[in-house]
Amino acid sequence: MSVAYGLARAGQRVTVLDEGDDVFRAARGNFGLVWVQGKGLHKLEYARWSQRSASLWSSFAAELTERSGVDLELSQIGGLRLALSEAELTRHSEDLASIRDSIGGTYPFERLDEKEIRKLVPQVGPEVAGAMFSPMDGHVSPLKFLHALFKAFSSLGGLLQAGEGVEAIEYRGREFYVRTAKRNYVAGQVVLAAGLGNRVLAPQVGLSAPVHPERGQVIVTERMRPFLRFPTIYVRQTGEGVVQLGDSKEDVGFNDSTTVNELGRIARNAARYFPLLNDVNIMRTWGALRVMTPDGYPVYEASSECPGAYLITCHSGITLAANHAGDIADWIRGGSEPSGIQTFKADRFDVQTSSH
Ligand SMILES: Cc1cc2nc3c(=O)[nH]c(=O)nc-3n(C[C@H](O)[C@H](O)[C@H](O)COP(=O)(O)OP(=O)(O)OC[C@H]3O[C@@H](n4cnc5c(N)ncnc54)[C@H](O)[C@@H]3O)c2cc1C
Repeated sequence: MSVAYGLARAGQRVTVLDEGDDVFRAARGNFGLVWVQGKGLHKLEYARWSQRSASLWSSFAAELTERSGVDLELSQIGGLRLALSEAELTRHSEDLASIRDSIGGTYPFERLDEKEIRKLVPQVGPEVAGAMFSPMDGHVSPLKFLHALFKAFSSLGGLLQAGEGVEAIEYRGREFYVRTAKRNYVAGQVVLAAGLGNRVLAPQVGLSAPVHPERGQVIVTERMRPFLRFPTIYVRQTGEGVVQLGDSKEDVGFNDSTTVNELGRIARNAARYFPLLNDVNIMRTWGALRVMTPDGYPVYEASSECPGAYLITCHSGITLAANHAGDIADWIRGGSEPSGIQTFKADRFDVQTSSH
């Protein structure tokens, strides 16, 4: 939707064919972080790409709110990575220093010791040894964000066809013939941005999307008095006061259910960071599938076999949304390929597999 919105904003005529609400859709189940710290430790292009998108997020959100009337609840005053030991804190601090030293630009962060983190967030538990703070980080409401994209896209004349799963795409005479169960469409360009669905669609236009599901389980508590202004990667308090907890990464295929064991682990873990969570009621839990490539980084690729076809897939689609609506949409419209994304082609998996 971010790419579609960016294209519509630039005056393109865009139709989105979206299989629907009841299929796998990470956009509805995610954690809502706009997150930079630590990303791209082993791939600086990814660190820069994430940082660039985060730096555009506040104007992106303001523009979406203006067009849609939806408040995205963006708060981008910084994020915390809490550590439960001095050794863990040192490791996080060294990782961020390594990115800062190689990135060739500003990369602000602070190491907060035991006393400093308690001053900033008095509710952290006795086990917390410190935290890394990065002013680049923030969070939004993922559902309001998606809703805003739908509304803004439609207000720009974009056509959203929900409940239309693409079954086949054929390239003939420089045009794409796209078939859904209901209709056929003809287009001069197609952008495959179907999450886990890209795996099947990509080969039909000479591309490859080796994506696989990785389940994340999430817990939402009842509303609490505000105690956490800054999101952490495992626990965040929303603008409405509820607390969202989650940090699981499970390889269970296309199973997006929840398990008591994993939810229990997430809850116990969160309570080590914030003991006040021991006495709070859980309102909702869910599982959602991340769209992962073998190394965790995106794939942005134009098809050479079928010119006019593009593949866009990533984990961290919230963080990267501003780039997708901006640089990526401009590239698809015929602009130059955004700097740094040349390394995000699928052929990297033919020769190596690195770790995220
Ligand atoms: C638990 C969890 C936590 C996360 N936390 C964060 C976070 O904090 N920050 C962050 O930046 N990112 C986070 N993410 C990742 C983020 O949600 C995804 O990167 C993003 O949603 C990917 O968007 P997408 O549109 O590519 O895929 P999806 O959101 O999965 O959407 C895919 C869409 O494609 C459609 N589709 C599939 N097949 C077809 C077909 N054949 N025809 C038509 N339509 C089709 C589906 O209907 C669906 O709407 C998280 C993800 C999960 C699961």
